[in-house]
Amino acid sequence: MNANLFDQLERSIADLTKSAITSPTSDTISYADLIALSGRLANVLVTRGVKPGDRVAVQVEKSVPALILYLATVRAGAVYLPLNTAYTLAELEYFISDAEPSLVVCDTSKREGIEQLAAKVGASVETLDAAGQGSLTDAAADSADVFRTVQRAGDDLAAILYTSGTTGRSKGAMLTHDNLVSNALTLIDAWRFTADDVLIHALPIYHTHGLFVASNVILFSSASMIFLPKFDADEVLGLIPRATALMGVPTFYVRLLQHPGLTREMTSGMRLFVSGSAPLLAETHREWSTRTGHAILERYGMTETNMNTSNPYDGDRVPGAVGLPLPGVSARITNPDTGEELGANGIGMIEVKGPNVFKGYWRMPEKTASEFRPDGFFITGDLGKVDERGYVHILGRGKDLVITGGFNVYPKEIEDEIDAIPGVFESAVIGVPHKDFGEGVTAVVVRSKEAEVDEKAILAALEGRLAKFKLPKRVVFVDELPRNTMGKVQKNVLREQFANLYPP
Ligand code: ATP
Ligand code: MG
Repeated sequence: MNANLFDQLERSIADLTKSAITSPTSDTISYADLIALSGRLANVLVTRGVKPGDRVAVQVEKSVPALILYLATVRAGAVYLPLNTAYTLAELEYFISDAEPSLVVCDTSKREGIEQLAAKVGASVETLDAAGQGSLTDAAADSADVFRTVQRAGDDLAAILYTSGTTGRSKGAMLTHDNLVSNALTLIDAWRFTADDVLIHALPIYHTHGLFVASNVILFSSASMIFLPKFDADEVLGLIPRATALMGVPTFYVRLLQHPGLTREMTSGMRLFVSGSAPLLAETHREWSTRTGHAILERYGMTETNMNTSNPYDGDRVPGAVGLPLPGVSARITNPDTGEELGANGIGMIEVKGPNVFKGYWRMPEKTASEFRPDGFFITGDLGKVDERGYVHILGRGKDLVITGGFNVYPKEIEDEIDAIPGVFESAVIGVPHKDFGEGVTAVVVRSKEAEVDEKAILAALEGRLAKFKLPKRVVFVDELPRNTMGKVQKNVLREQFANLYPP
């Protein structure tokens, strides 16, 4: 049976004349336009020699044509491979040599450098600029808009997405047509998306959040999205009265809360605020509820697994928890050393299984094998617990676990205590080399505006609240935590920065 994501999307379109994408910088695109424009681009890809199964590597600024290129690639039966626009040429060398694409699409300004990298793997290069110009769209202007979407099996690859590289070198996650379609349909159901929805889309589209969670959900529900090149609090606030939903990373909500223009009245037409990709502070969740009357719906996913859990649409959206496994997804907690399954509130490794879970890491068969249990569960690398109501709580990444004097310290537990201290805006707890303990628990703290809380006050507040071995050996202050473009705290940067904090 043909399982090409695009054919399934096309079948789900309720009204071809309806707007699919609007944007401040380009014309409104209807669902009929989406089919015609992706057809044109797919014709160009085929003329350029792109064959089913070939990778099309794309490093371009976010734009409506860039999203259409994703659909065109999938229609041609090829594998869409988006790359973070922040990657430098030196970084791109790894991705291009690893992925061996047959075509690389980039901004005109980067063409020269990329041509040299592409030549090494025999790939050709086309350009697509933020405004939609470039050799690719020039060629598309002359090509037919009718294209017969190439048939694909459900477990053929639709995309390879590289992970964010938060814990080490990025790995290519192989995602199938079935993975993407099933997760989109599950989310539409869980979050009640209909053709009446209008989503503010301010996320990048080289990452699973903006590309699959946001764009696929909208397109598969015949809804519309307002495409913004990037997040800007002023712009998003201005659009909220015209929209019904926002999907963001926690930083979006922090920035909007800092904006004096955010009011309860202006959000009255909104029905859904979703957060993910990084932990949402319980404090942000509460402040958002007080200010707007809406409880942010937090969910949890990864590049490898699409979305795993979500707080319920109806029912308790628990601050600090990532919710219940989505329908069809199984989640369990295991002892990281023995693999033994733990009961309610036992802390261990989060493992998941379901149609959302990827096919494996690109060209890393051994790594793939070592991350799956014999019964098919994928070992996420995230530590957490499932409480007695079935809600999943994330306690940090396995790689960020601090082992001090032989004891395990889960950073999130300490961070939650520190964040609750008056004068603290946020914190990150890390382990850094310590001659007596192996690793010293170290708190990196950002103060709230104008607060003067110091190391002594924080340590005093933690005394008696945490077992002695969990208490930070030192508290250091920074103006802000280092974050990547998805709002993830880069603990490896902090560990490097404070590597010599304790005397040798
Ligand atoms: P890499 O795997 O290359 O180190 P990464 O894990 O940051 O990078 P992504 O796939 O973008 O790459 O991110 C998935 C991770 O993001 C999850 O494993 C989890 O640690 C974190 N995450 C996602 N959603 C949430 C959430 N709601 N709360 C806490 N953490 C989250
Ligand atoms: Mg990861």
